[in-house]
Amino acid sequence: MSTAHKTIKTDILIVGAGAAGISAAYYFIGKGLKVTVVEKNIFGGSSSGKSAGFLTPDSELELSQLIRRLGTKGAKDIWSVPVKGIDIMK
Ligand SMILES: Cc1cc2nc3c(=O)[nH]c(=O)nc-3n(C[C@H](O)[C@H](O)[C@H](O)COP(=O)(O)OP(=O)(O)OC[C@H]3O[C@@H](n4cnc5c(N)ncnc54)[C@H](O)[C@@H]3O)c2cc1C
Repeated sequence: MSTAHKTIKTDILIVGAGAAGISAAYYFIGKGLKVTVVEKNIFGGSSSGKSAGFLTPDSELELSQLIRRLGTKGAKDIWSVPVKGIDIMK
């Protein structure tokens, strides 16, 4: 493993280059900000790289359970978050 010894000026520092970190970097770069991503191992090499590669809006609860608990609108709001994430990933 190499260690960086130089000073870097950046607007946003993201620690961890999994799906979350890379998505955040993509978002902030789109806002015109200078982004630095530090990764202790391999970019995308942790959970994001070891998943089955399916982009699904699954949650701990089935959609029908979400509707029962939160009503149609609440369930739709919750469900739309991972769906939006899938769109970003695509
Ligand atoms: C076998 C498996 C199957 C899966 N299947 C699915 C699926 O079908 N559908 C689905 O939606 N989800 C699935 N998941 C879950 C999904 O992959 C994870 O929720 C998602 O990838 C997590 O992304 P992340 O960016 O939060 O974390 P990670 O991908 O784990 O990224 C975090 C990164 O941060 C780095 N890091 C940690 N600490 C430091 C530090 N101090 N300094 C620098 N870097 C650091 C790590 O090395 C890593 O690269 C699965 C997960 C696994 C393991």
